[in-house]
Order: sequence, then structure tokens, then C-alpha cells
Amino acid sequence: IVAREWHPEDTVINIRGIPLGGPQVQVIAGPCSVETPEQMAASASAVKAAGVRLMRGGAFKPRTSPYTFQGTGVEGLEMFRQAADAENLPIVTELMDVRQLPMFMDYGVDVIQIGTRNMQNFDLLKEVGRINVPVILKRGMSATISEWLMAAEYIAAGGNHNIIFCERGIRTFETAYRNVLDVTAIPVLKKETHLPVIVDPSHAGGKAWMVPALSRAAVAAGADGLLVEMHPSPCDAWCDADQALNPQELQTLMGELRGIAGIL
Ligand code: PEP
Ligand code: MN
Repeated sequence: IVAREWHPEDTVINIRGIPLGGPQVQVIAGPCSVETPEQMAASASAVKAAGVRLMRGGAFKPRTSPYTFQGTGVEGLEMFRQAADAENLPIVTELMDVRQLPMFMDYGVDVIQIGTRNMQNFDLLKEVGRINVPVILKRGMSATISEWLMAAEYIAAGGNHNIIFCERGIRTFETAYRNVLDVTAIPVLKKETHLPVIVDPSHAGGKAWMVPALSRAAVAAGADGLLVEMHPSPCDAWCDADQALNPQELQTLMGELRGIAGIL
């Protein structure tokens, strides 16, 4: 279902009237994690001020250590919904467990993110395949392109064809940065599938200063959008502080992208 062979034209996904996968590049920006109502209100207004039309934020966080901050959970969803509604921004947030799905529907989550660590959680994929909410499917950190395409097929097979691929860097021998952004995957995926392909430069580089260069590379290589971490005060972020842009840096990045991609 996801193969371009069966659907030659690009699929454009409609997120509350905002197209993803068409001629416009769409940026999704926001903090790694939902922290407080004040942090979310400041994030939403910074997203809006930069001209970004979709907001990200994790309420349920897949942390490497069980002893670190695990997310604000359902209270986070509530804070996110209120802050985003005040700026009329659709929300993108990660689903970690099928038991959270009814809650996601209650809060009207506009785009469900399936994280790297769950790319091959097939029961989770089947479950989001049964609803029609758009899904961002992040690439597993060691997943091949064909494994990634087949994971998307699990969602599509259930009837949900609103799938967005997200390259977020893969694990290699290199330790100088968090992950290696696989720019090669962008044209390959655009050839193999009719579905939109976006890039997360934040989890690839792992440092805020790398984000503009990786973003420009992704857009120049044909990405349909970006998923960028931005925090109103990066040094105070509860998670992924090193890679968060501040509001001014997001604004500057948007200006740079307009020079490469035309309309945003
Ligand atoms: C995230 O986007 O917050 C995240 C946890 O990303 P990934 O699944 O790519 O590690
Ligand atoms: Mn993060």
C-alpha cells in the first residue's frame, strides 16, 4: 500500500487543513517534552511567531534510564492541548503504549508519533492502523529502509494510510554526534513510497548548533518537512537540552529554509 508502484502521485496528508507532502515544506517544532503550562504557552507562541504551523511535544517519554524524568503523562496532554489551542496549532505527540490510545483520542491528538524505539512494535502499529489519525513513523535506530517500509505497511494494512516517514538519524560507528543523519534515505524513500518524508535534525545531530545545517541539507535533498526541537529556555529543558533551538534560532532557521524551499 505504501509503495509508489501502486500509487504514482505524491500523497498529501491533511492535518486540520495544513497540507504535508505537497509543494510546501512543513515544519513541526516544539519542546522535546511537555513540562509546565508556562513552558508550553511560551513554546506555542514562539512556534507561531516563527511561522511554524504544527507543534510537537512529548507527554510520554521513552527514556533510556527508568530513573530519569518519564514525561508528564496525561497532565502533559492537557497542558499541550491548552497551549496549542490558544495559538490554534495542531499537536504532534508520541504514543508509547496501546493503553494510551483512548486518552489520545479524548485530547484530539492531531498527529500520533511512533518513536524510534517502537518502529517495530507491531501490535502498536496495528492499533494505530485502525484509526484515521495521521501517524509519524520514525525510523528505528538500526532499521533498514525495507524494514521501515514494512513497518509502515502494518499501519496501512489496517486502513490508515495517513503515514509520514521521519528520518531521525541512524546508529553507526561514529560517536562525534548523537546519530548519523541518513540524507541518502530521503531520495530513496521518495522513490519507494508516495507518502511524505520528513527529517528530525535534532535527534540526528544531538546539538543545537548542528540543526540549521542538517535542516538545510534535508530540505535540499527533498524532505517534505522537518521535526525540530525548540525550547523557550534550552538550558532549562528537562530533556534533550543540548539539541533544542531557542525561539530566535527557530525564527532564523525558518528564514534560511524559505530561501531553499520557497513557500513554507
Ligand atoms: C522524540 O522525538 O522526542 C524522540 C524521543 O525521538 P526518537 O524516537 O527519534 O528518539
Ligand atoms: Mn527529544
